[in-house]
Amino acid sequence: MVMKDYIVRATAAHGQIRAFAVTSRDTVEKARAAHNTSPVVTVALGRLLSAASMMGIMMKGDDDLLTIKIESNGPVEGLTVTADSKGRVKGYAFNPNVIIPNNSKGQLDVASALGLGVMSVIKDIGLKEPYVGQTILVTSEIADDITYYFATSEQVPSSVGLGVLMNKDNTVEQAGGFIIQLMPDASEDIIDKLEKRIGEIKSVTEMLENGMTPENILEHILGDMDLDVLETIPTEFYCNCSKDRVEKAIISIGKKDIQEMIDDGKEIEVNCHFCNTKYTFSVEELKDILEKAR
Ligand SMILES: [Zn+2]
Repeated sequence: MVMKDYIVRATAAHGQIRAFAVTSRDTVEKARAAHNTSPVVTVALGRLLSAASMMGIMMKGDDDLLTIKIESNGPVEGLTVTADSKGRVKGYAFNPNVIIPNNSKGQLDVASALGLGVMSVIKDIGLKEPYVGQTILVTSEIADDITYYFATSEQVPSSVGLGVLMNKDNTVEQAGGFIIQLMPDASEDIIDKLEKRIGEIKSVTEMLENGMTPENILEHILGDMDLDVLETIPTEFYCNCSKDRVEKAIISIGKKDIQEMIDDGKEIEVNCHFCNTKYTFSVEELKDILEKAR
């Protein structure tokens, strides 16, 4: 039976540690199917979607929105994902079809597919200006890059693990990850204990291969540090696009361009970047849109 995707939010060491873990197979498979991504791109996008789902629920407001954008010099060129505070994520790769040789360990080579670049984390939490944190990619494997972001932009010492396993038919077998963070009041003892523990734990890939749930993952890492599971939140790949929203986007490009489309005499097709849904507009519909643009 396939488990539905969810995030677990927990604390440990009486609030000195906060922790998140996610199982995200369906989310990543939906992204793969929507964008027809190659295996290495599925893994890259899947890791970022899994991280974003956990970072999304760290935000408090109903309308808060997190965007993580990677821009890099490898063949994929970049990724964009967004997450809300309710566990909904969506995203895409700039080049979804990249195929490159595996790395020296025989694994899909996410680092080479992305290459060197910059990661921007944009949090729109209802303030006048969104918060933007920008860091360089340190390994381009994504988990390390998110860890580095937390350390340098948010000054929160963190441990991040992310993994996506592929089936032989290139669908997603398993996906998930964790984020463990030290709170400002963490004692030296707890910091030392957690550091030692993080050095000993299995890789996320191994945990997923062993069928570990988010609860199992947190238990494995924090089981002897008074782990307290607070909440379970469903997560999914979800896009809020609609024909109405696309119509508003067409209106915004202006009368002149809409008139040109009408003069071409053909229906137009607009794809949503995030979920690849196609919207078509007939010439008649374009004429109605032109009226609204006046
Ligand atoms: Zn969409």
